Amino acid sequence: MKIGCHLSSSGGYVAMAQTALSIGANVFQFFTRNPRGGAAKPLDKADAAAFRDFAAKEGIGPILAHAPYTLNAASGDARIRDFAESVFTDDLTRLEATPGALYNFHPGSHVGLGAEQGIANICDLLLKVFANVGGAPSTTVLLETMSGKGSEIGRNFEEIRAIIDRVEGAGAPPLGVCLDTCHVWDGGYDIVGDLDGVLAEFDRVVGLKRLKAIHLNDSMNVRAAHKDRHEKIGKGRIGLAAFRRIVNHPALRALPFYLETPCDLQGYKEEIALLKGLAE
Ligand code: FE
Ligand code: FE
Ligand code: ZN
Repeated sequence: MKIGCHLSSSGGYVAMAQTALSIGANVFQFFTRNPRGGAAKPLDKADAAAFRDFAAKEGIGPILAHAPYTLNAASGDARIRDFAESVFTDDLTRLEATPGALYNFHPGSHVGLGAEQGIANICDLLLKVFANVGGAPSTTVLLETMSGKGSEIGRNFEEIRAIIDRVEGAGAPPLGVCLDTCHVWDGGYDIVGDLDGVLAEFDRVVGLKRLKAIHLNDSMNVRAAHKDRHEKIGKGRIGLAAFRRIVNHPALRALPFYLETPCDLQGYKEEIALLKGLAE
C-alpha cells in the first residue's frame, strides 16, 4: 500500500522523507512554496540528489508536489495569469531535480467569467507552461477534482475531461487526475453509497487510466454541500466503512494515497496505521 500525508517542506526533501518513514508513510505530499504566497526557497540541489538516493533505497514515492492555492489558471486577470504561468513553469522546472514526481493543482476559479471561459483560460495557460518547459517534463501534471465551492472549475468529471481534451488536442503531454474524496463527496458524488457507480462514471467520462493519485480526506459536510471542509478519517460524513472500500477497491488500491486531514504528525501516524489496518 502506498500511503502518506501532507508534510511541511521547510526542512527539504531528505527531511520530509525521514519524517515520512517515521510515521509509517512511503509517499508524501508537500507545497512547492508558501500556499498563500508565491516565493519559493532556492532549490537545494544537494538535498534533492541525496533524496533521490534515499527514496530509491527506502522505496519512497511517488512524491506529490502541490501548487499554491494562489495559482488561479482560470482567471481572466492578466497579472494573476502571469503569476500562475511563472509559478507553474518554475515548479515544473524545479521538479526535474526529482524525476517522476506528480504535480497537482486546483484547476482554478472563473470568478464570474463562466465555466466555459474559465476552462479556456486554464487550457491556454497549460499550453504556455508546457511550451516554457520545452515539451514533456518528467513530472506528471494532475488536475484535482474540486468540491465546487464558489466558482471552482473541476466540480464534476465533465469539466476535468473538457480540460484534458483541449490541452492534449493541442499536442500537450498527457494529463492525470488526483481524486480528492472530500471534494468529490462535497461535489455530489456518492462514494459512500455507490463507490462502484462513481468510479464507473469516472471511467466513462475521464478514464481510470488518468487517475494517478488519491487525496484521502473525510468531510465535515453532507454530500453535495460544495463546502470543502476536510475531517479526520472516520470522523466525518464519509465514514470508516467507506474508506475501507476505497483503499481496497481494485481500481484504487494500487494508487498512492495522500492524507490531507486536520492532523498533526502523531495524528497522521495513527491514521496511516488505521488505513493500513483496513487494507485486505
Ligand atoms: Fe488540493
Ligand atoms: Fe485535496
Ligand atoms: Zn480540500
